[in-house]
Amino acid sequence: MDANGALLRWYRPRRAAYPWRTGAPDPYRTLVSEVMLQQTQAPRVAAALGPFLARFPSIAALAAAPRSDVVRAWGALGYNRRAARLHEAARVTVRYHAGRLPPDPAQLQVLPGVGPYTASAVASIAFGVPVAAVDTNVRRVAARFLFGANPEGVDRTQLREAIDRWLHRREPGTWNQAVMDLGRLVCRPAPRCDVCPLAAGCRFRASSRPRPRARSQPAFRGSWRELRGAIVRLLRSRPSATLSSLAGRTGRALHDVAAAVRALDRDGLVRAGPAALAGRPSGRLRLADEPRSGIVPTGTS
Ligand code: SF4
Repeated sequence: MDANGALLRWYRPRRAAYPWRTGAPDPYRTLVSEVMLQQTQAPRVAAALGPFLARFPSIAALAAAPRSDVVRAWGALGYNRRAARLHEAARVTVRYHAGRLPPDPAQLQVLPGVGPYTASAVASIAFGVPVAAVDTNVRRVAARFLFGANPEGVDRTQLREAIDRWLHRREPGTWNQAVMDLGRLVCRPAPRCDVCPLAAGCRFRASSRPRPRARSQPAFRGSWRELRGAIVRLLRSRPSATLSSLAGRTGRALHDVAAAVRALDRDGLVRAGPAALAGRPSGRLRLADEPRSGIVPTGTS
């Protein structure tokens, strides 16, 4: 059996593992799930996706909601900036695409929060467009399988061209998800070649290169991300808060809280008053209902 045959056969029983893969492909559901998956593990996305789609069943419903509702519904997924960008993406889609996501990855990439990877994932999974969605995991699988090296040892353009040639053109969405799963579950930084469907033809496995060991994650506790998340979490359950109360509840220095609030305000997640932006303890803020500026279609991340 060829490599793609073995890969798709390995993937088939795993396909139904997550709710965004069942039933007919739906562009809106695919977009929401892909944005959630950008920085959150699949089991947590599986728990959050249903309630989010029940609250905002269509891209029009999401676009019409206040920003604060979207951030509240984002729940415990973390990296709340994604909720703000997804909300903006929905509004851009309603305004410029009559509420229908475009199938063209180049047009998808213009939406806020939709970078090359997410655009390719949505285009291939929801519309069957033959384009590879290349993230760190996919790059690692391809570099090892096709070149027998880790990705940092392969020319980026050559690697991209090789992935494009390897892509299964009749089932691009399934193929993309299969390689993503393989990179996440099997061809991890410390590869598990003994259970890999690509083992028979893998150049990395056949080589005598030393096998990388798993690396530990950077600490979350005490991080900037933890502080931003804690501020948004506290604001979800109250109409507003002062900088000093947030500093007290998070146990972090006032100037750190003020800096995090300014960043959250810039990202459109909170609306801080002038005193809070100036770092005064009595300065007050709340979750934003509307972004400060109008809709600006800019693809990022
Ligand atoms: S055989 Fe090993 S190195 Fe090759 S793709 Fe599979 S897990 Fe990765």
